[in-house]
Amino acid sequence: MATRLFTASALLALMVGGVGAQDGRALLQAVAKNIGADSVTTIQISGTGWNAAPGQSYSPADDWPRFEVTSYTKAIDFNARFSREQITRRQGNYAPRGGGGTPIQGEQRLDFLVNGNVAWNMQGTTSQPIVRGYLDGVPVAELRQLDIILTPHGFVKAALAQGANPTAVTSMPRGRQVTNVSITALGKYRVTATINDRNEIEFVQTRVANPVFGDMLYETRYGPYKQFGAVKFPSVIHHHQGDDRLNPGHNTMDIQVSAVQANAPVQVVAAPDAVKAPAPPLSRVESQKLAEGVWYIGGGSHNSMAVEFRDFVAVVEGPLNEERGLAVIAETYRLAPKKPIRYLVNTHHHFDHSGGMRPFVAEGAAIVTHQMNREFYEKVHFSPAPRTLQPDRLFLVNPDQVRDPVFELVNQKYVISDGTRALDVYPVQGLNHAGTMLIAYLPRERIVVNADLYSPPAQGAPLPTPNPNMRALQQTIQRLRLDVTQHVPIHGRVGTHDEFMKIVGQPATN
Ligand SMILES: [Zn+2]
Ligand SMILES: [Zn+2]
Repeated sequence: MATRLFTASALLALMVGGVGAQDGRALLQAVAKNIGADSVTTIQISGTGWNAAPGQSYSPADDWPRFEVTSYTKAIDFNARFSREQITRRQGNYAPRGGGGTPIQGEQRLDFLVNGNVAWNMQGTTSQPIVRGYLDGVPVAELRQLDIILTPHGFVKAALAQGANPTAVTSMPRGRQVTNVSITALGKYRVTATINDRNEIEFVQTRVANPVFGDMLYETRYGPYKQFGAVKFPSVIHHHQGDDRLNPGHNTMDIQVSAVQANAPVQVVAAPDAVKAPAPPLSRVESQKLAEGVWYIGGGSHNSMAVEFRDFVAVVEGPLNEERGLAVIAETYRLAPKKPIRYLVNTHHHFDHSGGMRPFVAEGAAIVTHQMNREFYEKVHFSPAPRTLQPDRLFLVNPDQVRDPVFELVNQKYVISDGTRALDVYPVQGLNHAGTMLIAYLPRERIVVNADLYSPPAQGAPLPTPNPNMRALQQTIQRLRLDVTQHVPIHGRVGTHDEFMKIVGQPATN
């Protein structure tokens, strides 16, 4: 009955011009009936496939690096607003190029939970708090709640809930009738489901705040529906983060669904107190003077370095997001008052290392970066497109007040100098982590700065086994004949070159 009703109204809509707006409720009820959403309070989905590390591509011309998922389960209790996603993954046959933990050694288990407004992870039997937003943008608990709503059954439930006010538009974009039903989820996210003429949800999409993309496309595509006991569910779950019209990086997960259990006994886990404490703010800075006019700016997961020249300052790394970038800028002005920040050196394009660049451009700094990043940065990082979900300074200020970002592109060597001090920037070759990697070097102070290649071990800890990233740094230092005494890593503490040589001098064990 509901189906026929829908068809009639869609036909009417088509007759009046091909597109039509209508009340989505009748259609949603037809979808609910078709996929069995009404009777479902919990659902457990299992499968295998792959997932990926968004923001961690080998180069801006590549998609996100992938990992083989040998086991995937997701359990949801819709009423409890609880979900638990457990993933076992390994490198498999996927190219070991890019960041985000690539390559995975052996097997890795991920265990992601959300209960209401609290998200946390499990590492074995230990509950771990989440200390940063998802890709340093949206809070992880919000994202995991959105993920529930992005499932077919979750969307139908959310859209039919009291006060949801779904709106619907029917059209034939590819010669086939689809209806897009939209709701506002969690009070702020516009979520749209595309429903086909078989009353199946094919796509669900929304946008979430991301420091690089701005309003980042976040969508799930569903493959052919199959009957799994009492419910119909897609046999394929395919997930995108990012818009491939802007950048090749967008595929984040693909699961071939092997089993779906409706009303499975899902064990709702209460959020332990240990994961509820607020995370330290990303704006926390702790600086340390390394030499006259040279400072390490730490205090968080990603460091920066400020270098004072005669009448300007250069900063190495604007990491994470605007909050972190602004904190580094404020600290730089405190350390070297009344000097403009003229250059920001960007080690590589990974989102956690480039997401805090925008406030530096708002301050008038030129971006010193690998030549391969130019197009990506112009089209994505510094796009003038609206950032509505988390408007930042660069978006909010009058365009007249912001010059177009200036890029100083690095090919072989780039030197920032005032005639007395120099800061040299070099690409690192032969690296699997990123094709856009740069190191910074202060020849007079004999300091080298690296990201993701080498972090000195914690004081007193045993020496780590040398890995290919450390070897690449060692080879770069050798090839360029850099005279180094101090290592400043973007992650971790400052260390000596003697210590580095001791580590890379060990035989590799594998
Ligand atoms: Zn990286
Ligand atoms: Zn890193």
